[in-house]
Amino acid sequence: MRDSYDLVIIGGGVIGASALWNIKAQGFKGNVALFERGDALAEETSAKSAGAFRNLWGSRINLDMCNYSIRFLETFEKDFSIPIGFHKHGYLFTFYEKRWNEIKAYKPNLDAAGVRSELLSPEEIEKRVPGLKAGVSHMDPDIVEFAGFEPITGGLFGPDCGSFDPSAAAKGYVERTEREYSSSVEVHLRTEVKRIEFDNNKVKGIELSNGRRIGAGMLVVAAGPWSMQLLAASGLRDDENLPVEPLKRQLFITNLPDVPGYEHIPLTIIDRGIYFKYETGNLQIGRADPEQKPGFDQSPSLAYYKDEVAPYMQERIPAAAHCNVKNMWAGLYSMTLPDHNGILGQHPSYPGLYLANGWSGHGAMVAPAAGVALAELITQGSYKTVDARPLRFERFAEQDLVHEEIVI
Ligand SMILES: Cc1cc2nc3c(=O)[nH]c(=O)nc-3n(C[C@H](O)[C@H](O)[C@H](O)COP(=O)(O)OP(=O)(O)OC[C@H]3O[C@@H](n4cnc5c(N)ncnc54)[C@H](O)[C@@H]3O)c2cc1C
Repeated sequence: MRDSYDLVIIGGGVIGASALWNIKAQGFKGNVALFERGDALAEETSAKSAGAFRNLWGSRINLDMCNYSIRFLETFEKDFSIPIGFHKHGYLFTFYEKRWNEIKAYKPNLDAAGVRSELLSPEEIEKRVPGLKAGVSHMDPDIVEFAGFEPITGGLFGPDCGSFDPSAAAKGYVERTEREYSSSVEVHLRTEVKRIEFDNNKVKGIELSNGRRIGAGMLVVAAGPWSMQLLAASGLRDDENLPVEPLKRQLFITNLPDVPGYEHIPLTIIDRGIYFKYETGNLQIGRADPEQKPGFDQSPSLAYYKDEVAPYMQERIPAAAHCNVKNMWAGLYSMTLPDHNGILGQHPSYPGLYLANGWSGHGAMVAPAAGVALAELITQGSYKTVDARPLRFERFAEQDLVHEEIVI
């Protein structure tokens, strides 16, 4: 380990890994070190992710970030010599009548952006997801009223959406960077950064948890949901810190419903934001808990599945009545409170401090674009590939938030 580096990256998840590769690939000549406190790369949020990607978005910034990222991920296995399970299985949002009428208005935007999408009728949805019943006549009327079920009126389907393994991609990024830039790149595992040090607000270096001090000319904070703690420990005031909270999100692995054809379903989002996709002979099911309190708890709850997911899912898909949990886990969203979108770029009050945080539920799918954008900002002073200015930290003070309508 050196006494100082030209650039330090804190966090070895998919965002830090993408930043590392892109910064070197863009021609940054200086020494770069990535510090990850875990025993291995990308074992936190990036490993807990559903890894889904989509290009169905309402906002320009999310469309641009995801279009770039999906194209990049398409050839990742070949380019980085590592399997990442990239698979375009499609993505299907289903809607009740009121929301359906609003969502249909986004179709021309998607067409104009070159995004392939289809508006599906209830019958077409039933064909794509075996056993799903779009109406409510098969349900007990008391349950319909109690749970607020309505008939599904339409669906938005994206054939170019799918999923991949973000932690495998993180390893691919880092291993290739180490292979190609071995003389100017170091990756230190089991190395926790305790705080960032500044000199008159300019980045000066870091202090590790073992007490060692290391100089740094520039610094990228990619510490996922722990970034806010790190910045607070480094002396940033609340109004200078990220408006981001850690929020538990859970995924459940169950057996498949009792109908054939689940190998070919798209990732499907139904009532109450329940989403599911095929996962090597099983079903992966998730639902964001609207009652979840912020915090670092990562314990999964079977009761949550039994009370808040399964009963609603089996009303919509009676064949899912015997989908029993085989495995489950929880991870943390870094939830950007004002608008649920990422924060990227240099901190306006701390020269040399670059932020790549707050990705909420879509940090895996934008990681390739986030890395390339950050690298361009650092090496060339402005964005070239994707104009990521809408994600700047200053947007909160300016009240210029990202408005995204196509959300789970
Ligand atoms: C259940 C769940 C499902 C999700 N599904 C999707 C999805 O389908 N699609 C999608 O795009 N996104 C999804 N996400 C979100 C996505 O996984 C994250 O946005 C993304 O992985 C964030 O990557 P990251 O590198 O910022 O964070 P992380 O992967 O958490 O990496 C941060 C790293 O920083 C390290 N670190 C922290 N503090 C320090 C320190 N002080 N010193 C050194 N190292 C430190 C941590 O150990 C960690 O490895 C999901 C998230 C969850 C929890």
